[in-house]
Amino acid sequence: MTIAGPAPKMSRMPENTAYFTSLGGVGEVGASAHLIEIDGLTLLLDCGLHPKKDGKSSLPDFSLLRKPPDAVIISHAHHDHCAALPYLLKMFPTTVPYATVPSVRILDRMLHNSVSVMEKIHLERGIEDYPLYDHRDVEFAVRRLYGIPMGQEFALLPDSPVRVSFSQAGHVLGSASVLVKGTDHTVFYTSDVCAVDQELMPAFVVPDEATKVDTLIIESTYGANEEADRVVYEDEIARFAEGINRVIDREGVVLVPSFALGRTQEVLNILALLQDTGKIPYVRIYASGLGRAIYEIYDRFRHELRPNSDLVPLDEFESIGDVWDPVEARKLIKDPCIIVATAGMLIENTPSAMIAQHLVRDPRHGIFFVGYCDPDTLGYKLRQAQKGDPFIFQTGGEAVTIQLEDIQWYHFSAHAHRQELIQIVDTIQSKNLIYVHGDPPALDWMHRHSGNGRNKFLPRIGESIAL
Ligand SMILES: [Zn+2]
Ligand SMILES: [Zn+2]
Repeated sequence: MTIAGPAPKMSRMPENTAYFTSLGGVGEVGASAHLIEIDGLTLLLDCGLHPKKDGKSSLPDFSLLRKPPDAVIISHAHHDHCAALPYLLKMFPTTVPYATVPSVRILDRMLHNSVSVMEKIHLERGIEDYPLYDHRDVEFAVRRLYGIPMGQEFALLPDSPVRVSFSQAGHVLGSASVLVKGTDHTVFYTSDVCAVDQELMPAFVVPDEATKVDTLIIESTYGANEEADRVVYEDEIARFAEGINRVIDREGVVLVPSFALGRTQEVLNILALLQDTGKIPYVRIYASGLGRAIYEIYDRFRHELRPNSDLVPLDEFESIGDVWDPVEARKLIKDPCIIVATAGMLIENTPSAMIAQHLVRDPRHGIFFVGYCDPDTLGYKLRQAQKGDPFIFQTGGEAVTIQLEDIQWYHFSAHAHRQELIQIVDTIQSKNLIYVHGDPPALDWMHRHSGNGRNKFLPRIGESIAL
């Protein structure tokens, strides 16, 4: 196993050697940002914020940058891959940012939303650093962004020998894997991948050119998840339908906490299909604000979705209204219905948490998780809670006594299972193999079970690897 210590003081000669240095998102699922030095140029792959940290400590370690990066590439618009971009461009306005065409649109929505969330946290929890950037910084970043169509090769800078192209990562709309070709070195960065078709997204593809590269950087999210290997998508859908019927039969409401980008759009379409095929009754389906805004972008780029997918018009789903108002929230859950609301892990002060605190008082209702819940989140804690337990949804708020028992978890992940990750490693021949984006047990499992005979790395933040 290659775990090196602090970054060695290595010289940057000869010029034709490539280097990898991570600023974040290694050894954990954190603020993804990986610096590639190639042909004398510096390129940052992703620029996210740490999902579990606050203020400046959530940023990638930008102090490791010796000079402004020449370019930054955003693989997709999830917070942990993109949310530090406005901050980076505020520091280095000359750095050229790239993303896929749909991602540019989504970034516009997600980053403005990040400002609003940071402003709110600043007021409520007094975190001095927040907001890390304002709406004007977001506008600057979005204006600077070059939207590049999937599959189109582009020069990193005018006249530069470094060529880059995006390919389908299958994770969410606009999500790309990135192929970087220098004079003597090629790098393929999978970013977050889904190996199979989802309801809307087509599966990850390995472009022909990427089957043999010098360096493969692969995500490892599900490396420690044995359970996911056994999940059959169709069975999971059937179990989901069964659960919904059970709740609706007892006149309850189903809450499906979902990520705004990706999971919300997928789940809404699964639900509509289940209704249209008579598998669940025609009760109202509600969707929350940011998820709806992203849905509009899915609609606009429906040609980038899976060819056989049939995106349901957004107006078939109702708006949830202002669930911060207890009167509105109680009105919403008066009759049997299904509510798809952000955030997926029931983060405090989000629509899903606001609705959940009303639902848990009544055993007729159900809360169905459809993605990963971090142990530090409300979602995880609620799943562990028992009937009769007191539960606090809001810092400083009153405890609610849990009456609801029907809390389920369904595996609809947009990440490749570990057996699929091994297949990807086998398909993409490489001299070097770098594991990123996973908790330590996941990274360790991937390191032990894939890529025999290659130079394998589990880098630390700040460790430079000569490729
Ligand atoms: Zn992602
Ligand atoms: Zn991620």
